[in-house]
Amino acid sequence: MTSTLALSAATPGAAFEKVTIQRRDLRPDDVQIEVKYAGICHSDIHQVNEDWGPAIFPMVPGHEITGVVSAVGSEVTTFAVGDRVGVGCYVDSCGTCEICLRGDEQMCLNGPVATYNGREYDGTPTAGGYSRSIVVKDHFVMSVPDGMDLAAASPLLCAGMTVYAPLVRFGAAAGKNIAIIGLGGLGHVAVKIAHAMGATVTLLSHSPRKEQDALAFGADHYVVTSDPENLRALNGTFDFVLNTVSADIELDAYLETLKIDGAFINVGFPAKPYQFHAGSIVMHQRAIVGSNFGGPAATQEMLNFCAEHNIAAEIELVDAGEIAAAYERVANSTVRYRAVIDIAGTLLDN
Ligand code: NAP
Ligand code: ZN
Repeated sequence: MTSTLALSAATPGAAFEKVTIQRRDLRPDDVQIEVKYAGICHSDIHQVNEDWGPAIFPMVPGHEITGVVSAVGSEVTTFAVGDRVGVGCYVDSCGTCEICLRGDEQMCLNGPVATYNGREYDGTPTAGGYSRSIVVKDHFVMSVPDGMDLAAASPLLCAGMTVYAPLVRFGAAAGKNIAIIGLGGLGHVAVKIAHAMGATVTLLSHSPRKEQDALAFGADHYVVTSDPENLRALNGTFDFVLNTVSADIELDAYLETLKIDGAFINVGFPAKPYQFHAGSIVMHQRAIVGSNFGGPAATQEMLNFCAEHNIAAEIELVDAGEIAAAYERVANSTVRYRAVIDIAGTLLDN
């Protein structure tokens, strides 16, 4: 075992404390990574607060990880010491079920292993990227393309993949008229990627404050949803709507903005159940679908797509000691547009 510094919440909602945790000895297919940056995903906040039900504590969150390989196991051939790498939301899966074999390891039928708030197959709780070092099976390590800034790349490891997958699955492309709800960590990357794919993009925001930014990221239109009339004016408009909002929303009003056969794609994961009227989907045979992150091959494809199209997250670097303030700002939607913890620079021994 190797000791490493980490930022840990002892109990639900507790303040983060600097602690020492243990990382396993390298297995033959393991990669040890010196973590440089860890993005603060809203899912970190949901899980620390047990919004999704009982969680595992103490908790070291962090599933938007970038860093540099510091050691490799004896059988690792795809990575070498010094390589720039990333890790997302999962660190293991069975590798043999039909869902793993089709490249959707994040939905492994034998239970994928989450990067944190999960358990290894031997029962050991996992600890995420708010930590100086992490040990991950090579299959779940991604290569960060040359020229991509490690800090701005870190949010792509969750936010980027989470929006890339449904944009690909539902065919975001020229001729498609789509909407993205929420210009946060996920939403702002979704705008950039959807724009690069050629779709016509409308950003639906609950405040007028982010219009200039949304347009600069590639949105064609910006609509403020706090006035219900603005949404009503869009009824029957979109091929699909991608919801990235972390809070409860009025589903019916958004469902009505879909064309016949349109899809409401949900990646937002609020604490409260959604409600909607059957008429909002039945009459125009609309679909409500979910999407959960993506497998390692797709995540690498997303990173390569972003490199090719010069896409990265807009970030605010925060110190390891400033997480509570950063969480508050995420909750208030005032971060522009992803807070990223400078792990290597500020999670220090003294
Ligand atoms: P975020 O950075 O906090 O962004 C969420 C955005 O939602 C905000 O920027 C805001 O955009 C909008 N919003 C916030 N409060 C709102 C309210 N009360 N009413 C209406 N809109 C509100 O969060 P994130 O990290 O992008 O994550 C978004 C959600 O996706 C979270 O629930 C997270 O758990 C989930 N998630 C799911 C997956 C998956 O695999 N499915 C992966 C990662 C995250 P505007 O100011 O523009 O309205
Ligand atoms: Zn996330």
